[in-house]
Formats: sequence, structure tokens, C-alpha cells
Amino acid sequence: MKHLFLAIFSISLLLGYDNFDLYKIKGQKAGPTLLIFGGIHGNEPGGYFAASILAQHYKISEGTLWVVPNTNKESILKYKRGINGDLNRKFSKVSSIDKDLTTVKEIKTLILDQQVDLILNLHDGHGFFREKYTNTIFNPGAWGQTCVIDQIKLDQNSSYGDLECIAQKVSNNLNQHLLQEHHSFNVRNTKTKKKKNEMQHSLTYFAINNNKPAFAIETSKELQTTTQKVYYQLRAIEAFMQIMGIKYQRDFELESENLKNITKSNGKLVINTNISLDLDNLRKNLRYFPLQSDRNELLFTHPLGGVIRGNGFIDLYIGHKKVSHLSTSSFPVGNCEDTFEAVVDGKKKSIHLPSEVKIMSDIVFHAPKGYRLNVIGFTDPRYKNELGIKIAGHSLLKRFSLDRDKRRYRAEFYKERAFCGMVILNYAARNNNETKASLLQHDIYKPL
Ligand SMILES: [Zn+2]
Repeated sequence: MKHLFLAIFSISLLLGYDNFDLYKIKGQKAGPTLLIFGGIHGNEPGGYFAASILAQHYKISEGTLWVVPNTNKESILKYKRGINGDLNRKFSKVSSIDKDLTTVKEIKTLILDQQVDLILNLHDGHGFFREKYTNTIFNPGAWGQTCVIDQIKLDQNSSYGDLECIAQKVSNNLNQHLLQEHHSFNVRNTKTKKKKNEMQHSLTYFAINNNKPAFAIETSKELQTTTQKVYYQLRAIEAFMQIMGIKYQRDFELESENLKNITKSNGKLVINTNISLDLDNLRKNLRYFPLQSDRNELLFTHPLGGVIRGNGFIDLYIGHKKVSHLSTSSFPVGNCEDTFEAVVDGKKKSIHLPSEVKIMSDIVFHAPKGYRLNVIGFTDPRYKNELGIKIAGHSLLKRFSLDRDKRRYRAEFYKERAFCGMVILNYAARNNNETKASLLQHDIYKPL
């Protein structure tokens, strides 16, 4: 699945691989390239949400960032470590019938790309690593809050080959920005070659055996919120960029309160070029949603957008979070106009399919003969076709709204049996007092 881009991110180039997406964010000035994998384990959201924020909210002025936010896409949707087994244990050998075979091959090709100078694999690990055993959470076997290396140095000389020194610098940097004292970071050296442990099958060990510097960043699964995990992941990634001389800007202050809003934001979804949905505040269940019987194209602005399709429904996801369940009705594709005339609060306007119209009081749609309008929630039994009828906010049943704020409603255009497209009626002024607080919150939550 490919994703839709907003103009602000046009500097990112998206390449869709078989099982994941790669975002290339290139600075105007040449410099080193950092390759980042988020979501190799599908139940470690700190890593994949951090990577998705990099892809959406960072600009690079010098050097290049390659970001894969959804490395193990199907496992992320299902919030499982690996639906086909542990993907991070398949890099020394993988069976020719393994379902992850293509993914492993594509990851290896990226790692070996001549342009790539350093690789990060993002995880959320158990507990908090400590040199000495205190309890089951704080101990030398824990992975949480570590910068993981396989050995002290790369075997051959290379820029960034001094793995321990770099990992220590990153840890020191993170320790200056702790949200709480016990979140402190450490370097964990798995001594993979010497100990012949299971890490010899990992992504980073494959990289260092090919003389590419590679690190895992592990935040702790024990951190209370995804936001806290994302915060540390981004701090660590920025520390690596500083060490490499990659210059970046982000469109937010890196504080955990801002990140909460950004991490919660679901972006937009365009379906079949004739429906455009704001995924924030969408109702959990939407019924009779007009789609094609097959080959529906769903384009998310969010890098972690995904779907699970079933018989008569499509579930929309951002990462592992289910955003909405659409019970679908199928319609053939229509040969329709894409612009209609309307009178919005007494003023004439042309309305495109799809679009969203802000309405203070009411709207009247007009269309040539043969078209039919169905406004969901407008239930006056006198009308089978709502073209030419005044649709006022107060005449709509709130339980049919698209959003939980009860401001947005579906206006669906049909031509004979075919579905033409949807206009979202946004009665922003409706229930002003009742929704004032949530409106305010909603506006702040928008990252763009
Ligand atoms: Zn992991």
C-alpha cells in the first residue's frame, strides 16, 4: 500500500517495497546516510511510532535519512512480536519457504546499499538494564533503556566503527534529558561473536559482519506511555544524527507533552479518490459505508496506516491502534461529475467530490437530473432524494455523525446505482457550548 503525501513533506520520497515502506529524506547539502528500522517487532510501539514521526515531522538540511517505519507491517497491525516467528532472528539464515523471506532480503539489500553509513534498529525491551541484579525489572539481563552493540569495534576500519564509544556518547546524551531518574540509559554489549548467542541471527549482527556500523536502541516496555518511549527513541536518533553531522529540523518541540498530541494524531485517509476522511475523532463503528465490491484503494497520510479486510467490513488501523470499523455496502463505480453547486449558509459555492464543507447553519445541494443525494442522519420520510432540500445542522440525528464530536456528517452522491463520492458536512458551529472543550482540544491536536 502506498501513502498519500501532504505538500509539506514533499521532500520525502516514498518507496513501497513488498512488505514495508521506505522514506528517503534528503538534505540539500550532501552528507552521511542514516538508515533506521522501526517495528521489526510488531508489539514495540515506541520504535515504530518514533520512526513514523521522523518520516512525517523532520526535515533534513544536510545528509540523508532513510526511514522504514513499518518493517514488520502485518505484525504491527496484530500487535504481535512476529506473526511468522521472530524476524530479528532470520538474518544469518532463513528458510526458502519462510514467509518473511522477501522482507529479510529487502532489509539486507538496504543495509548493504553503498550509500548507507550507519544503521539503527528500534526496539522496546523488557525492564531496565543495570550492571548489578536488583530485581526482575532492574538487572543485567534486561534490555530496556540501552544502546545495544554486538562488539566494541567493527573488525575493519570504517567511519563510525568505534561502536562502544558512539553508544556511550548517545547514552550520555540521553542521560541529560531523562523524564525520570530511573530511566537512565546504559550501553549493553552483547559480545555476540564471542558468546555465540542468539544475537548472531539479528539484523545488527548481519550489518556489522558486512562492516556496517549498527546499533539497537531499546527503550523500556516498563515506561508508562508510548509517548515516553517515542521521546527516548527520538532523543537517541537525534544524538546519532549529531554524531554523524546530519542536520535536521522538526516542526515541534521535543517535549513529552507535544509528542503525546503528535503520537495520537491519525492523519487523513482518501478512499477511491472520492472519499476523504479525517481519522482523528472518527467513530469506532460506521455503518453502510459505500465502497466498491473489490479493489478499494486506501491512501493514508500516516506512515503506519493499515487495514484488515473481512467479509463486509474494513478495519482501519494506525499502527496497532484500531481507528474504526467500517461495515461496507458495495456499489459500482460511477461515471459522475466531480463538482456540484450548493448554497452554503445562503451563499452559492462549488463543492468538489471529495471535500469537507464548513457550515454555520444549513446547506442545499443541487445536481443535474439522474443524481441522488443521501445525507446520513437526515431522516425526513418525505424525501428519498435530498437534492434541493435544506439540510440544517439541527435536523440531523447526532448518532449518525462521522465523528465523536458529532460535528461531521456524510453527504453521499449517487447516480443511478453507482456511488459518486462523499462530501463531509462540518457543522462547526453546532452545539457550540457542548463541544467547546473538545473543539479546542481538537484544534491543538492537529500537528499541521
Ligand atoms: Zn524488539
